[in-house]
Amino acid sequence: MLTTLRRIILEFSQDSELESALRRMVSQVKLAMNTDCCSIYLADYQYQHFVLMASDGLSKESIGQTTIDFSEGLVGLVGRREEPLNIANAQNHPKFIYTPEVMEDELHAFLGTPIIHQRKVLGVLTIQQKETRSFTETEEAFLVTLAAQLATILSNAEASGLVSKYTQNGQWLKPLTGAAGASGVAMAPIMVVQLVADLNTVAIEKCQDIAVELQRLQQAIEKTFSDFETMSSQLGTIISDNSLDIFEMYKQLLDSANLGGEIAKKIHLNWNAESALKLVVDSYILQFESLEDEYLRERASDIRDLGNRLLLNLQSLNAVQQSSPEEFILLANDVTASMVADFQHQGLKGIVSFTGSSNSHAAILARALAIPAIMGVERVPYSKLDKQLAIVDGYNGELFIAPNESLIREYQHLIVEEGALFDKVFEIKDLPSITPDGKAIELQLNAGLSHGFEHSKNTGAVGIGLYRTEIPFMDRSCFPSEYEQTLLYQKVLAAFPKQSVTMRTLDVGGDKSLPYFPITEDNPFLGWRGIRITLDHPEIFLVQVRAMIRANAGHGNLEIMLPMISSVTEVEEAIRLINQAYYELSLELDTAHAKLLVKPKVGIMIEVPSSIFQLKELAEKVDFFSVGSNDLTQYLLAVDRNNARVSSLYSSYHPSVLRALNYIAEQANQHLVPLSLCGELASEPAGALLLMAMGYDKLSMNPHNILRIKWVIRHVEFKRAKIILSHALTFSNAKQVHNYINEQLELLGLGGFVRAGM
Ligand code: PEP
Ligand code: MG
Repeated sequence: MLTTLRRIILEFSQDSELESALRRMVSQVKLAMNTDCCSIYLADYQYQHFVLMASDGLSKESIGQTTIDFSEGLVGLVGRREEPLNIANAQNHPKFIYTPEVMEDELHAFLGTPIIHQRKVLGVLTIQQKETRSFTETEEAFLVTLAAQLATILSNAEASGLVSKYTQNGQWLKPLTGAAGASGVAMAPIMVVQLVADLNTVAIEKCQDIAVELQRLQQAIEKTFSDFETMSSQLGTIISDNSLDIFEMYKQLLDSANLGGEIAKKIHLNWNAESALKLVVDSYILQFESLEDEYLRERASDIRDLGNRLLLNLQSLNAVQQSSPEEFILLANDVTASMVADFQHQGLKGIVSFTGSSNSHAAILARALAIPAIMGVERVPYSKLDKQLAIVDGYNGELFIAPNESLIREYQHLIVEEGALFDKVFEIKDLPSITPDGKAIELQLNAGLSHGFEHSKNTGAVGIGLYRTEIPFMDRSCFPSEYEQTLLYQKVLAAFPKQSVTMRTLDVGGDKSLPYFPITEDNPFLGWRGIRITLDHPEIFLVQVRAMIRANAGHGNLEIMLPMISSVTEVEEAIRLINQAYYELSLELDTAHAKLLVKPKVGIMIEVPSSIFQLKELAEKVDFFSVGSNDLTQYLLAVDRNNARVSSLYSSYHPSVLRALNYIAEQANQHLVPLSLCGELASEPAGALLLMAMGYDKLSMNPHNILRIKWVIRHVEFKRAKIILSHALTFSNAKQVHNYINEQLELLGLGGFVRAGM
């Protein structure tokens, strides 16, 4: 049976056309189960009925025509009950409906099982037999197993466009979805941009004259270098932060010590310049794409972008060849940073990319330019999208194609509202973050994860509440030296003179791995991660802490934060090492420099549930607590924060998480330990409101949320927030909490923030 099942599923999944795959499958199942009929019905939620999609046994004419309402018949009953139905004589069943056109008069026994994917009924699989008999348990088990596997393939078939879930009679039924890359809303016709120069099309060829090829390469490198200079100086007039670092990185890579040198070496091996470029770039891409870390995998796209730009200049083509409409949404397979730079002066309103994530440089740049973007959107043929009017909803990652009148009106209204909101919140950038009844809440930046915004001064943030140090460790081929780290940390500390900068020690492991320090574990989030790694490797920890303390000399605003603390012993050990680093440095440095050394405050992240029950003991050891609500939610709810399958279960508004957060605030207050929160929850209006009421006086978040949160704080009285909190803590599920807070924000006149915040 197992072999038969595997064969049926394998053949089904290999068919490129859904209808023929379904046809083949019903015949195979009928044969394998030795029955007289097998049929598949698929659910159409718009019309609330099942459509007979394939059958071997029912009349051929009824296929694609016969529909059964969700509330009717035996098929409807299977769908509603979400369990198999095994009936010896279907025609006697009260729910049986006689449908003459399917010609099932002679069929009596009926076994139907729902096809369910992630709790959603996608269809019903049935077998029928002339004989009046109940199907055996083995037959039932076979059909259930088959339906479960079919569900997974069918859900993918939807995604790959085999089932038209989007259009019916030329109308778009639902939006295409992807990851929210940059918030905001835009409406304009789509302009599909395909690569002018594409390394994939380069044929590998030897060359005639090495010197000529080297010269061509040199000229292309120079031209590419100057392209990037132009891009970053043009963008530099609009963007003041280091999201433009990507162009610096490109320029460095062009250098003869890097990619440029490797391409030249290949030319010396007799390849022509295009081939040499392709060979080198392809091998880099392969290396990056094989990495587990999502951020680093995204770097493959950067290398491809650089390679294609070089190719463009080798072939002396013009990057922006097509004339663009006055306003447009740029759509491409892989929108890159340089594509954004090429088009941003020309009416670019929104960005849609079939590949990439919010970590892509195109998304980082889009955020810096305040252009709404959706990344990794479900793929649909370009021909269906080009020149179509579309709405980009960068908050929810939704792309509406050919929207109807009412949707257009709704979004036009939102765009106007958003513009007004943006102007409004910008006005308060220099005003204090304080409630109308006088409660001050410090807002700080989360920095380090992307290259964007970290040192932005326009947000009114007071320092950095979380500097994630992982990325400088990731973007390279070995651990950075103490000197390299010192230079980097000095830059960060200097960006916020007189304001505290909280640097977190290396938090790799989990979903963040270093290419040169691979960790393979079955359960990485419960494994060797954060402080566990660095305590096992004091040589890595000490170098990092020494670099931080050294960088702090003359600045004095450093605070050190320890990630993933689950016991008091870890804190004691880490503090011992930090003290050791400090004393070593004070002995090593000359007197003038040693005098500038300051012993930093040391705090811990509260993100592992065990730490919540030792707050008293931990309070005696450290100078501050900062709650990592992203991990705390993951560990309290036992829901992997990166697993799409369980993402609907992941919510920081879960009553248990809220109660834990409230308890932490009470404890910190009782033990007089300064408290902040640096997870995503702080950047949501509802989250910020609840946290402030709990007693979190410091919130750290992405730079682009600071002004919105400040606006919320300036418009909600502290005493009102406390009343809202006491109510919110009484609900029994996250959805109720969400709805309640949304209502309250509406009542407070902050409805416009809800859309962007939750
Ligand atoms: C957290 O866990 O909430 C946090 C801020 O840290 P990270 O997201 O880097 O794990
Ligand atoms: Mg964390």
